[in-house]
Amino acid sequence: MIDEKDRIHRSHYAYQIDTSLVGKMVSIAGWVEEIRDIGKLVFLLIRDVSGIVQTVVTGKHLEALKDLTRHSIITISGTIQIGKAKDFDVEIKVDQIEIISRAIQPLPLDPANRIESSLDKRIDSRALDLRNPRICEIFRLKSSVTHVVRSVLQSERFIEVLTPKIIGSASEGGANLFSVNYFDTKAFLAQSPQLYKEQLILAMDRVFEIAPYFRAEKSHTVRHLSEFVSIDIEAAFLDSKDVMDLAEKVLLTVLDRLIVTLEEGGSVSLNKESIAELRKPSIERYSYKHCVDILNHEGEQIEYGDDFSDSSLRKLGQIYKGFYFITEWPLKLKPFYIHEKMGEPFLSESFDLQFGYLELISGGRRHHDSRKLRQRIIDQGLDPSRFEDHLRVFEWGMPPHSGWGLGLDRLMMVLTNAQNIREVVLYPRDTQRLHP
Ligand code: ATP
Ligand code: MG
Repeated sequence: MIDEKDRIHRSHYAYQIDTSLVGKMVSIAGWVEEIRDIGKLVFLLIRDVSGIVQTVVTGKHLEALKDLTRHSIITISGTIQIGKAKDFDVEIKVDQIEIISRAIQPLPLDPANRIESSLDKRIDSRALDLRNPRICEIFRLKSSVTHVVRSVLQSERFIEVLTPKIIGSASEGGANLFSVNYFDTKAFLAQSPQLYKEQLILAMDRVFEIAPYFRAEKSHTVRHLSEFVSIDIEAAFLDSKDVMDLAEKVLLTVLDRLIVTLEEGGSVSLNKESIAELRKPSIERYSYKHCVDILNHEGEQIEYGDDFSDSSLRKLGQIYKGFYFITEWPLKLKPFYIHEKMGEPFLSESFDLQFGYLELISGGRRHHDSRKLRQRIIDQGLDPSRFEDHLRVFEWGMPPHSGWGLGLDRLMMVLTNAQNIREVVLYPRDTQRLHP
């Protein structure tokens, strides 16, 4: 018997209810997924975050079910018995039942997906949408992925940091910043941690940050949001190739852990074969020049120095289907802080990591010489006086350094085979959406 005072506690989660408990008394808590009324008895299917349990309600307890609606929160205690239903080895014969929180009817959507809802409608009621275990699983996976990334980076002596998201000047140039009222002045939301993470390696040697960033781009694509999470690293005394190796290690470790999770039967939203297929021994590296040649051969008309259009990237994505790096981009296509390639001043020591057409990472070696950095700022038409706080740091003994930024949401698209970034972000923000 559950103590009346203790009605919000449970003895077991759904996943723990199995034949080893036959004859035992348990209490569970969850929401009503289904009510199967067959006259003298009612089968209630109760789901919690871990799984689903069948319960059997009979006799005087049927009274409690009078106004019961699907998705109401309920606690049940009872005895485990062998069941007859083909989906459940055991069931709980109800001894005590309490409806704790009644769900309204009709609900704005059906998380069990009997009636399919559009992505937009699902996001309008996201908290309820997550009661669909396949959808909840995406975010459990996202949590595991960040955990794996953290552990790889920490084992490589990176220190996790948090840099400001409210910034005083448009740090990297470009017009895609949100501005906010900040007391009597104007501030901006950070579009990346780039300048701060570079400053921090002056003393901390290796840093990483996992945080949201903001871009006021009026893009209407399935891969851009106004707010997205980036995993950023920066490291002293590493070059572009070193940090590419590290990106490769991070990604392959994430894939390996996912494969283990899947082998243990741990995920409903991932396909083991497709993840195993992504896991190659290493990630191919192609130069920008090689990609231009390939694309021109395929009928695209690209001059050396042009950026790749969406259609070029899609074509490249058809040729190289999995992960691959594009290295040595023309310097003029890259931000001012990117270092030129030694001996080839029109090229840069930089790379993007692609998955098919989708860009996941941008990275490279940075300038550490303050005079060269100042000149690059001027060359790109930016005003160096806006960068004085940053440039002075480079006069205090700045080591050579390299780094990258990996879009976590885009990585989750790849891992879950989602076609729209909104599927893998809890509360997406775009030009059309600021709620919920
Ligand atoms: P794209 O060319 O796809 O717009 P970008 O080159 O502007 O991306 P970077 O500034 O290089 O993006 O940012 C590093 C990474 O952050 C990208 O490779 C991507 O994974 C992620 N990212 C950038 N902008 C967005 C966005 N608006 N929404 C989601 N992820 C983003
Ligand atoms: Mg980029």
